[in-house]
Amino acid sequence: MAKKEFQAESKQLLDMMINSIYSQREVFLRELISNASDAIDKIYYKALTDDSLSFDQSNYYIKLATDKESRTLKVTDTGIGMSKEELEDNLGTIARSGSLAFKKENEKKDGHDIIGQFGVGFYSAFMVADVVTVISKEIGSEEAYKWESSGADGYTIEPYPKDEVGTEIILKVKENTEDEKYDSFLEEQELKEIIKKYSDFIRYPIKMDVSVTKPKEDDENEEEEYIEEQIINSMVPIWKKNKNELTTEDYDNFYMEKHYGYDKPLKHLHINVDGTVRYNAILYIPESLPYDYYSKEYEKGLELYSNGVLIMDKCADLLPDYFAFIKGMVDSEDLSLNISREMLQHNRQLKIIEKNIQKKIKNQLESLLKNEREKYETFYKSFGRQLKFGVYSDFGSNKDVLKDLLLFYSSKEKKMVTLEEYVSRMPEDQKYIYYASGESIERIEKLPQTEMVTDKGYEILFFTDEVDEFAIRMLMNYDGKEFKSVASGDLGIEEDENQDTEAEEHDHEEIFAYMKKALSDKVKDVRVSRRLKTHPVCFSSDGDVTVEMEKILNSMPD
Ligand code: ADP
Ligand code: MG
Repeated sequence: MAKKEFQAESKQLLDMMINSIYSQREVFLRELISNASDAIDKIYYKALTDDSLSFDQSNYYIKLATDKESRTLKVTDTGIGMSKEELEDNLGTIARSGSLAFKKENEKKDGHDIIGQFGVGFYSAFMVADVVTVISKEIGSEEAYKWESSGADGYTIEPYPKDEVGTEIILKVKENTEDEKYDSFLEEQELKEIIKKYSDFIRYPIKMDVSVTKPKEDDENEEEEYIEEQIINSMVPIWKKNKNELTTEDYDNFYMEKHYGYDKPLKHLHINVDGTVRYNAILYIPESLPYDYYSKEYEKGLELYSNGVLIMDKCADLLPDYFAFIKGMVDSEDLSLNISREMLQHNRQLKIIEKNIQKKIKNQLESLLKNEREKYETFYKSFGRQLKFGVYSDFGSNKDVLKDLLLFYSSKEKKMVTLEEYVSRMPEDQKYIYYASGESIERIEKLPQTEMVTDKGYEILFFTDEVDEFAIRMLMNYDGKEFKSVASGDLGIEEDENQDTEAEEHDHEEIFAYMKKALSDKVKDVRVSRRLKTHPVCFSSDGDVTVEMEKILNSMPD
């Protein structure tokens, strides 16, 4: 039988697939299953619009079967099927928009990582198979056909007997090589996991014949092996379920099943939006810090689904940096399965979703702060620094989003307080929001500089995190009240009229001059201080940069 050539474009794509990175190859199954699901959708639609057809949900399924001996993996569906022409057109050419866009993408950069991230279709089967056979019978047709290809050298089509309408795709799984293992694609357990990972929420049942052992009925001591047909996927996505039907445990399980983290989530958000852009999302605020969180290795992002099919593991565009700790997923019917990473960046729908999500997270954190203070403080222990970094690296509106989520230790309350709480307690004559920086609360409490402010009855915020002071500088003020370090030269506190500082400076001229000389490379000046009560001496700074900030700046690598 004469072989037909693939189009030149298809050949290129094939080449790329075959040489793709091993770890990404498992997505071929997602592709085959999503095609099967599409094909069932089509027959479903036809049944809805054609009275001569009936649609019985139970007749429609996707089924996987493996045979280790012949090294084959078979994916069967009861979908609409393909005619001879459709087999040629759909599987012999890559003229569809998604693939073309993908190809263009690939011209720009090394395309290997794209394969793992996006739907690239039927061709991905060649990532794991030497030979791909498609046997299909179209609805309403008497004949069925077999399409077969072993990759770049083209394909054959011939009539082939098949009783049921639908499609069967048979992969002859590649042999293991020294550094690449393909055997896992013949293992039931591995296949189950891939299905759970990528296709759990496909609407139709994904069945698989699984061999199980159980005690023999007539002899309890003997085990027998038999084949059991199991449904692998859960079919209804948790995010499409009604919130009222779900318990916290359901959400916690989903968190673990998805490996979003190894802790228990502190709080979940279930979002269903049916506006101009439709989407569902399940988001989590984790309880504890991922070990690599404040390192370069940490990658933010949410899983992105297009109508139930996973298209990206970590879509970074969905989260602002200051909410990088949020875990979870977004599913939208308005996104194409074949959308590329770069297309996503400019995608209008995605931008709307991002904005929307950001607002919801902010509201959730605020309500946690208001109603479940203890939980919020647990969260803040892990991710407060992130929020402060967010204020510090202010782009546009970060400050407004974040300023009411900040907590600092209060000298007065002896616990974490918000800026709003601080300001609400300020006596009328207090001009500034005072803060003191230091390594720890204990150390700051001993700082001589705090005495005068405390004596005045004013509250001081303790800054123990390096980023604190830098963040607050970006914030500039809260509710019109400026921040003031207790170590700064002018504290804005009325000094005692009866004390004559100048006269005192004059009286001690000699010793001050001597001290200045002795500390010549360490201090700029030695002066009389009015803020000391029980301590003999303290440091203060004149300019914009406080002593603590100076320490941090000096410790930074150039
Ligand atoms: P896409 O799904 O984005 O269209 P694919 O490469 O995955 O691209 O599939 C190409 C086409 O082949 C599909 O659009 C569909 O028409 C056809 N096809 C693939 N698999 C099946 C199947 N199991 N049943 C029916 N048609 C299929
Ligand atoms: Mg497809």
